[in-house]
Amino acid sequence: MTIRTASDWRSDATRLRFRRQAFIDGKTVDALSGLTFPAINPASGSTLVSVAACDQADVDVAVKSSRTAFERGAWSAISPSARKRVLLRLAELMMTHADELALLESLNMGKPITDSRNIDVPVSANCIAWNAEAIDKLYGEIAPTGSDALALVTREPLGVVAAVVPWNFPLLMACWKLGPALAAGNSVILKPAEQSPLSALRLAELAMEAGLPEGVLNVLPGLGETAGQALGLHMDVDALAFTGSTEVGKLFMGYSGKSNMKRVSLECGGKTPHIILRDCPNLDAAAQAVASGIFFNQGEVCNAGSRLLVEEPIREALLEKVIAISAGYMPGDPLDPATTMGAIVSKPQMDRVLEYIDSGKNEGAALVRGGKRVRVESGGFFVEPTVFDGVRNDMRIAREEIFGPVLSVVSCASAEEAVRVANDTIYGLAAAIWTSNIDTALSASRRLRAGSVWVNCFDEGNITVPFGGFKQSGFGRDKSIHAIEKYSDLKTTWIKINPTPAAARVLT
Ligand code: NDP
Repeated sequence: MTIRTASDWRSDATRLRFRRQAFIDGKTVDALSGLTFPAINPASGSTLVSVAACDQADVDVAVKSSRTAFERGAWSAISPSARKRVLLRLAELMMTHADELALLESLNMGKPITDSRNIDVPVSANCIAWNAEAIDKLYGEIAPTGSDALALVTREPLGVVAAVVPWNFPLLMACWKLGPALAAGNSVILKPAEQSPLSALRLAELAMEAGLPEGVLNVLPGLGETAGQALGLHMDVDALAFTGSTEVGKLFMGYSGKSNMKRVSLECGGKTPHIILRDCPNLDAAAQAVASGIFFNQGEVCNAGSRLLVEEPIREALLEKVIAISAGYMPGDPLDPATTMGAIVSKPQMDRVLEYIDSGKNEGAALVRGGKRVRVESGGFFVEPTVFDGVRNDMRIAREEIFGPVLSVVSCASAEEAVRVANDTIYGLAAAIWTSNIDTALSASRRLRAGSVWVNCFDEGNITVPFGGFKQSGFGRDKSIHAIEKYSDLKTTWIKINPTPAAARVLT
């Protein structure tokens, strides 16, 4: 791989062609209303392109196209190995166009190009490839009946699946839904977040190039309150897969109840406790994990380790290390490969983060690092890595999802107290614990109410393990074979065996 400099990326950016239309039934189209919304570069505040603002009318057209494609069977009824070949081609095309996709991701949502090129794009392509590889290795069941029957238990695709995804990992969150949903044979309508539609629109074209039949993947850029809501309420959408805020996740449950009881799966973020006990086996490694756990992707990560729960005897030493490491996360130009922290996705999101920082100060926490907007002259939305010490778990900065580079440090007197504080939240997406004692690690892991628990590490894992939440972090799992289960339904076919006279003779 050639080493690319900031000026290489900037010069590529000037030549990039942004897709601005919706993608329905294999064609690019304007919204029926003709309305658009701006896709903004959060590193400069400037508009990249105006994108079709789809609403209810476009949703109706897309759902019809998806349903027709599903019933035609050119995707839903072909063999899993045939679907596998197309999806593997898509994964390959994503890697062939990895620089372009990475650039779209960084320009549109502000993340460092090194991360989008080395993490977002390859991990997204791998998700598509892994689901493709898995789908022709799944067998149905034959139930243990008596000799007078044969009962088959098979999995069938659901039909039309809508995926409403957020802006923090636009391509990856889309692929976490598309990989298993398409592999299982469904037609999918993807609504990217209004802040970050550009990579999804390019992905739709690549999917067609890979051989996905028309209507099997439709991409509808648009606002949540219009396009998102119309998908949630649609009577002919069979399932809705969502990642985003708990507030909007609850709306989707309501939409389902008000319409056709479509099944809903929700991944809704959290307030991840990162516990460091006094017998931590490696304080330097823990400090690195604490810093990357909250500053990676500008802190805009659903499982960001936003609450550091540390045993008091090691608090000062750990904090000193975390603050020293945080200097390496000063925000920079997302297109510079040396940048480790980019821009916050939008002005409203930056204002929200700064408002939380004010609330931390007002509630009496000690601001020991950062706290300000920086690089103001760029016109972009950058916030320093920020650390609050002396946080009580009842403060807003310890209870609410900030979705920015803000760490809240809570001192604990014992492992017991740390686990209790860790669970004292409405969320339950993830948790981490550092200790040298395997018994402490395992018993804490059992008591932590979270979908993922990391021991002596943070945010580790790969496509083979499920990811999702307990409590108000949602339900349903992305990744792993379990995600495929979410996009398919079990069917029982019970066949009565009536012995013919000839068969009866054989049996006697
Ligand atoms: P949202 O939950 O509002 O957005 C997620 C997705 O839902 C987007 O596609 C959005 O569309 C759509 N949406 C928004 N409102 C509705 C609605 N009424 N009906 C149907 N769909 C809707 O997240 P925000 O972007 O507003 O971010 C706010 C906070 O949410 C963040 O600060 C963070 O705390 C949390 N969040 C959590 C994420 C996670 O990964 N768990 C990801 C993103 C945010 P649109 O783009 O038009 O808003």
